[in-house]
Amino acid sequence: MSSTTTPPVKDIITEDHHWDPVIEELAFPKDLDNLYLQTVLTMLEAAEMLELPHRIKIILAQPKNEIMVHFPVMMDDGHHKLFKGYRVQHNNALGPYKGGIRFHPDVHLDDVKSLALLMTMKCSLARLPLGGGKGGINCNPRELSTGELMRLTRRFTAAIANDIGPDYDIPAPDMGTNAQVMAWMSDTYQSLTGGRGNNDANRVVTGKPIEIGGSLGREKATGQGVVDVCVEMLPEIGIAIKGMKVSILGFGNVGSWAGRIFYELGAKIVTVMDHTGAIRNDEGIDCDALAEYVEENGGVAGFEKSDHVTGSGQHTALGATPISTEEFYKTEVDLFVPAALEQMIKEPEAELLSCKVVAEAANAPCTPRGDRVLANKGVEVIPAILANAGGVTVSYFEWVQNKSDHYWDAEKVDQELNKHMVMAARRTKLARQRFGCDLRTAAYIAALDRIGRVYAVRGIWP
Ligand code: NAD
Repeated sequence: MSSTTTPPVKDIITEDHHWDPVIEELAFPKDLDNLYLQTVLTMLEAAEMLELPHRIKIILAQPKNEIMVHFPVMMDDGHHKLFKGYRVQHNNALGPYKGGIRFHPDVHLDDVKSLALLMTMKCSLARLPLGGGKGGINCNPRELSTGELMRLTRRFTAAIANDIGPDYDIPAPDMGTNAQVMAWMSDTYQSLTGGRGNNDANRVVTGKPIEIGGSLGREKATGQGVVDVCVEMLPEIGIAIKGMKVSILGFGNVGSWAGRIFYELGAKIVTVMDHTGAIRNDEGIDCDALAEYVEENGGVAGFEKSDHVTGSGQHTALGATPISTEEFYKTEVDLFVPAALEQMIKEPEAELLSCKVVAEAANAPCTPRGDRVLANKGVEVIPAILANAGGVTVSYFEWVQNKSDHYWDAEKVDQELNKHMVMAARRTKLARQRFGCDLRTAAYIAALDRIGRVYAVRGIWP
């Protein structure tokens, strides 16, 4: 098929241009701001370059299953509130569905579908024997008490218990969820389905606390993976890790670990922004102290150059100065790391950015229009399916350790993670060389190549 039928996704700017036949055939609504359409178009662009057969394109353009549940939860004041939850199972050609569970007020079906598709690509690119899934509940976990959060998690797990399983679909944490939520999910699933001594049901989720089978290194895995990929790729484009200037958007699990590890390697984290505000220190922010501060205060706002003392008694002399959102984006750095929500880097933010490389620690942080602005400015974008694959990779290690009941030390986890991340980065670079495309398209090509080969030998039943 000629590559002229689908222009690069980032060049699609009007709704009346010539669409990929798959988009027409599956009657997708042509809303260019829709995250699912954006994700599918990116996948189709790469599929076309790879000359993937039409039958595989249509399979991958829609998830296999979209599960939506409504369930009541008793709130602390005794009244019942109805919640809506999702589990989307995108593709399991390579292995069981795998993907996080998000608790956030902006969880909607199309976003969950996009994140599930990204998981399929991520697992394939990292050569994990897993497929792609994603789930979530439309809620604000910050407004829930611990008891409410537990009852919400247990009712949701019960609602989807027949649709998940240790060898079928294995959830993990994502935004708004953590190891404790995974412990409640595992316990609920085992209570509903586990027979006597059926500890194996514990494998139904990863990202569990260490006490119940979690892996060492899982908590920092996504941030560590971001750093591993940058260490592999940045020196080749003339950026030395030691001394490079970094800006981080989002300082939760992924952003704070990426920041702490870059800081350990001698990089200077000069600006950080989260939902509470933005801060700057040209000498470099002490990310260990900032992480402790965020843990205590809920956000980066207020981490100022002062005599502030954190819980461990450490002075935050290397605090920072509050800055505006505009200054945050405009500050000149080598590397910009979006680690917050999807679609935060649209055209205006991309116009403001002054960096050489963007490493997408978050999922789909750059819109296609944002991407186009960055490309015109010569900014290299390391795509999410490569940059943040470290989380699912260590989740896979956890699942393997649970299966064998043999546990690895932290050093082995780090070494194995590094191997996977470096190989995924090299696959991406090779695809870029072979197809002469940008890194995002190259990463999708490297991922789709494996899925295409699997379908080629398995065929499509019957
Ligand atoms: P988190 O909830 O721990 O942190 C999210 C961060 O984003 C917080 O610092 C929050 O303040 C910030 N944020 C939220 N809204 C914001 C706004 N409007 N402006 C600025 N900052 C805002 O979540 P996380 O687990 O670190 O996940 C971050 C991203 O990484 C998500 O896209 C997630 O899907 C992706 N991801 C996470 C993992 C993982 O293992 N946790 C793995 C792969 C991808």
